[in-house]
Amino acid sequence: MNGTSFPLPRVRLINPTFERSTVASKRQNQKTIPSFHFKASSCERKMMSRRRRNCREKKVEEEEPIGGDMEDLFSEKDTHNIRMSLLDWYDDNQRDLPWRKRRSETEKERRAYEVWVSEIMLQQTRVQTVMEFYKRWMHKWPTIDDLAQASLEEVNEMWAGLGYYRRARFLLEGAKMVVAGREGFPNKASSLMKVKGIGEYTAGAIASIAFNEAVPVVDGNVIRVLARLKAISANPKDRITIKNFWKLAAQLVDPSRPGDFNQSLMELGATLCSVSKPSCSSCPVSSQCRAYSLFQENRTIPVTEYPTKVVKAKPRLDFCCVCVLEILNQTGGRFVLVKRPEEGLLAGLWEFPSVILDKEASVAARRKAINLYLKETFHVDPKETCTIVSRKELGEFVHIFTHIRRKIYVELLVVQLTEGGTIDLFKGEAKDTLTWKCVDSDVLSTMGLTSAVRKVYSMVEAHKQDSSVPSNRTVISRKRRIT
Ligand code: SF4
Repeated sequence: MNGTSFPLPRVRLINPTFERSTVASKRQNQKTIPSFHFKASSCERKMMSRRRRNCREKKVEEEEPIGGDMEDLFSEKDTHNIRMSLLDWYDDNQRDLPWRKRRSETEKERRAYEVWVSEIMLQQTRVQTVMEFYKRWMHKWPTIDDLAQASLEEVNEMWAGLGYYRRARFLLEGAKMVVAGREGFPNKASSLMKVKGIGEYTAGAIASIAFNEAVPVVDGNVIRVLARLKAISANPKDRITIKNFWKLAAQLVDPSRPGDFNQSLMELGATLCSVSKPSCSSCPVSSQCRAYSLFQENRTIPVTEYPTKVVKAKPRLDFCCVCVLEILNQTGGRFVLVKRPEEGLLAGLWEFPSVILDKEASVAARRKAINLYLKETFHVDPKETCTIVSRKELGEFVHIFTHIRRKIYVELLVVQLTEGGTIDLFKGEAKDTLTWKCVDSDVLSTMGLTSAVRKVYSMVEAHKQDSSVPSNRTVISRKRRIT
């Protein structure tokens, strides 16, 4: 029986919310795949018709959400089997990860802190990448009290390379909040969610793993496993569908070992039930997996059809010219770094002076924009405050942020300040509105910088190695105009 056998209006009577999502996902994905509503056994059909009758008789509201209807949840038997199978499998197969240390009853708060840090690091980042960062972090700040005393600058430096820096800032602010509170580490998901930076997922992970509270977690891995177990073809990004995944996860979580169960579900999604190459033949819950049983009936519909793939919105394209400004003095060159605003993209992080453009621009147009910026912001003006030693286009690259595809043009501008230039530099308004510093190359090489800034600096280093342009020339033979 395929997905077109049951007309959609009949499905609506069972679960209007999923039917709506199913229609939406069909629009996005031309290939029709069976959902658990469509694939009904004769027994299920009898239940469906009985339910419709009941609905009419009891005048149940048509918009009854999933979860009030046991047909949408796992059966008791499936729930029991999934719990047992997953926990057994997890006991034997869990990966040895640094944040999975067992802690004694008296160290629950320590464990909560470790889970918190690891879960925040793992969001949007691969396990392999996180491992080293996690070890370094725990070496520096082994407890939440240690972290609460750190500065944002230190935290950003430690985080450099993990991306999504707002997570690091919230982690620090959350730690300060917990330490400043009078009630110790919150030990329930509901109270954890009041802490800065802790959402429903992180609260569920901390509460279940560290404090044994039977609450669910839902991340991308869990959504994938649940969508396959139940053959859910609704749009997984849809708000109502996500709510339904939470209900399914809440039903499954094992009350006696909630932390281990949640980790087993995530572990299955991260290992066997992978996005493109699931290992169904080795899977501990294959007997309860509807996507797998559908595949065995009809080999043209692989389990990877679930969850439905949603076309991502195209990232916005923008352009940015970066000017690595090196100021020579008697002892060598120092680089100007500017601190980004405390809100918005890469908040509070250091970068080279730069200007965002709204379209692709020629070298001349880019230099004009940079010249204006340097003059107005830093008073770097060859007529008054400096002479140019060299100016060179180093190349360009594309850096992807979550929602922005940024083309970055890089140039190296080496200047020497004229007499009085040092005093004039950065005078005026910029002093109050901009935080900046000059650092030498040794400091720059060891600073925690974002990956885009590091890439820019590696272009500078490569250029200096290749080129005959001396980096520490102190005698300027003649003035040159900025072109
Ligand atoms: S049987 Fe396959 S699709 Fe189903 S949960 Fe296991 S690995 Fe995933």
